[in-house]
Amino acid sequence: MPSIEILQADITTLDVDAIVNAANSSLLGGGGVDGAIHRAAGPELLAECRALGGCPTGEARLTGGYRLAARFVIHTVGPVWHGGSHGEDELLAACYRNSLELAARQQLRSIAFPSISTGVYRFPLERACCIALREVRAFLATHPLPERVLFCCFSAADRAVYEQAYTELAKSS
Ligand code: ADP
Repeated sequence: MPSIEILQADITTLDVDAIVNAANSSLLGGGGVDGAIHRAAGPELLAECRALGGCPTGEARLTGGYRLAARFVIHTVGPVWHGGSHGEDELLAACYRNSLELAARQQLRSIAFPSISTGVYRFPLERACCIALREVRAFLATHPLPERVLFCCFSAADRAVYEQAYTELAKSS
């Protein structure tokens, strides 16, 4: 049975097959979760990212995890929030789908997502969280792998929003 878990943690500490990075399109590092992942993984990660030559919004790229406990990092580029009528929802959904697709292709069993786009990119949290849960559930229903998906919330407040949305989604289906 596939599982979805919601937890509050620093994603760089998680011992899973892959952690997802909310990167920017250069893939050359930034602040927030991106900066934390690069600091924890070490400079080899940046070197591998440099060779990838960037990543368009909504797509995802796989690298090694280097000094992280996670074996791989899946870098995906979330949309910057511009009010909601610029394809933001669909682009965010594509981030989750494409990350899961990469994980499945690599035969990974466990993957942890941060709350993509809801930091510096200002995507409203409740809306982003519903998209994330919906996409992950749909993927898990139609693919055998990954079998364990973690939503890694950085704050207790974020975790509460995810738990609430998860409960409501379970009730309505
Ligand atoms: P974006 O540019 O996609 O908005 P941010 O890194 O600014 O990305 O924020 C995305 C989410 O990642 C936010 O909820 C932020 O609180 C969270 N975050 C920041 N650092 C970490 C970390 N070390 N582990 C997990 N989540 C983190």
